[in-house]
Amino acid sequence: MSVVTRFAPSPNGPLHLGHAYSAIVAHDLAAAQGGRFLLRIEDIDGPRSRPELADAFRTDLAWLGLAWTEVPAQSCRLASYAAAAATLKELGLLYPCTCTRVDVERAGAVPGPMGLVYPGTCRNRRPAPAEGADVAWRIDVAKALARTGPLHWTDAHAGLQEASPHLLGDVVLVRKEAPASYHLAVVVDDAADGVTLVTRGRDLFAATHLHRLLQSLLDLPVPRWHHHPLLVDDTGAKLAKRRGSPALAARRRSGEDGRTLAARLRRGQFPAGITLDHP
Ligand code: GLU
Repeated sequence: MSVVTRFAPSPNGPLHLGHAYSAIVAHDLAAAQGGRFLLRIEDIDGPRSRPELADAFRTDLAWLGLAWTEVPAQSCRLASYAAAAATLKELGLLYPCTCTRVDVERAGAVPGPMGLVYPGTCRNRRPAPAEGADVAWRIDVAKALARTGPLHWTDAHAGLQEASPHLLGDVVLVRKEAPASYHLAVVVDDAADGVTLVTRGRDLFAATHLHRLLQSLLDLPVPRWHHHPLLVDDTGAKLAKRRGSPALAARRRSGEDGRTLAARLRRGQFPAGITLDHP
């Protein structure tokens, strides 16, 4: 089976060097085996999503010398997320939750690998919150795991992992303002797109525990994963749009050659002050 990888940026800020590195890793892993490299725009991030950025993303990737096949953006796939959520509800594995972020903080939630671990306030609330616009749906991880039994997944660097979704807690799968959270959408999409090797940064490593659980519950094929190291600045902080890392678009407009930049990133030659967090 030929390898299929993907780059799945969210259009809520311009792409920077960290994204370029991630796209190149995914592209090259596919190219090395004569496989396919997909681009998927993850544009259901509510008001933070700026669809007009997607065009700049395509220009950036072409400037880096990458070739890709684009698959439908998440905003085109809302019905498939709703269908997946309906399946999980029928299995009795989702519960409605009215908690706000402040409620979760006040309930003494402890930090987990992907944000606060939900303390379960609405899980046992009787009567359950009425369904409606101000309700999110969370997965009951303990109940879901009891159904599937132990699950495993494989990362190219870290090797075989036992899925431990309880580390993340009962995360939201259907948001108050969107038919899916990142976790549900990405699992449905990777299956629909035939992705066989999920390539993304190590910052999403822990999310894979939950994704593996969702694949089992939804009866989806199980890919392999390649969580790559992250580009960090000299304080060890991940390069992020918010920290003002120069956008690829700015480099492009200044006349820099994208293919030369891509070749340097491939060789591990990063601009001054930037390194990989895990060489
Ligand atoms: N859309 C996510 C991001 O831009 C990436 C998701 C993934 O690769 O699974 O951070």
